[in-house]
Amino acid sequence: MDRARYAVDAVVIEGRSVRSVASSLDKSKSWVAKQAARFRAGGNEALAPKSTAPKRRPTQLDVELENEIVMIRQQLSEDGFDAGPLTIQYHLAQRHGTAPGRSIPSRWRPNDSSGWLAVVAQTRSASRSGALKVRAGLRAIHGGVGEGSVLHGSRWLPTLGGVMNKDLVDQVIDVAQRVVASGAISANGHGNVSLRVPGAEEIYFTAGPSLRNHAPSAVVRVGLDGTLLEGDLPPIQGAVVAMHTAMYADHLDVGCVLHTHSPYATAYAVAHRPIGCWVEALAMFGLPTGVPLAGYGPRGSDQAVANIRASITPGVPAVLLANHGVLVFHRTPELAILVGGIVEEAAQAGLNADSIGGPVEIPEELRAAALQRAMLFESQGTTHA
Ligand SMILES: [Zn+2]
Repeated sequence: MDRARYAVDAVVIEGRSVRSVASSLDKSKSWVAKQAARFRAGGNEALAPKSTAPKRRPTQLDVELENEIVMIRQQLSEDGFDAGPLTIQYHLAQRHGTAPGRSIPSRWRPNDSSGWLAVVAQTRSASRSGALKVRAGLRAIHGGVGEGSVLHGSRWLPTLGGVMNKDLVDQVIDVAQRVVASGAISANGHGNVSLRVPGAEEIYFTAGPSLRNHAPSAVVRVGLDGTLLEGDLPPIQGAVVAMHTAMYADHLDVGCVLHTHSPYATAYAVAHRPIGCWVEALAMFGLPTGVPLAGYGPRGSDQAVANIRASITPGVPAVLLANHGVLVFHRTPELAILVGGIVEEAAQAGLNADSIGGPVEIPEELRAAALQRAMLFESQGTTHA
């Protein structure tokens, strides 16, 4: 049932492709399409055909709200804005008042244990235990993992020679160059970029010491469980892989993770001060509550990763890493780079404002309005004299 519900949410509400949902659920495309069709025909009840519970059509309110969420999400995405749950919730609150109450499905409410994130987490742990079973079964058959090979899903891949995809390597390098060009980076260029490999439990990761002039040969392929699948990973870079893989494992829609020591944002991280929503762009691009701070833990340690997880607000695509730097995670590299730049800009503005009385946050009730106004401009297009 959870999987059917998840598939419907992902396809109908989130607008993801049947193919990507099928692959993340380990189900066929036709199974996913069937769940979506069932839902469209008969609502949630139709997802449990064998249920003896009395059949109930979804209420008109449910349908209207679902349609509205789909519409908001589509418009946000088309205009290049963040379309995460928190942003959508802001819009719904703006349209229906600040106390939307039960008309908002629980999965859009942040911090709701029965919400969307919990469904995602359940799916993740289910597939993880499934992978472990596969691994145990193969060990029993093959008598342990052979030298020079690693287990990847249910396939055996050689660690030498490899299957590194050149296009993806080029993409990672391109993103690294664009991060450098954005200016939201420290003078030494320290940081790393990773991209999710579509349809696989793995990422491509920059293992070089600097994002400046990063060599394609220093890009490595890493499994979401942290296993190095291809390439050479120096210990200093290997230490931070865990915070990248954690973001991909926790957030199925994340396609790109950036980590930098961008100077102004890192000043806030060093001062253990979160960045408030005092720059309009934060409200416009999915950070209406500012940039949270993840408490210090030695880089890449379980403690550091747990602190990052604990600090993340649903839908917010960036955190400050105490005494270290910034972590941005988003659906696409474009959005991740954009958000990285906005975080740095907000930090710089905040520090400058400190000398003249301190930054003033945008009133909470106006943050959604800032986003809506930006969308309105976007929808009107460029005006010509
Ligand atoms: Zn770092």
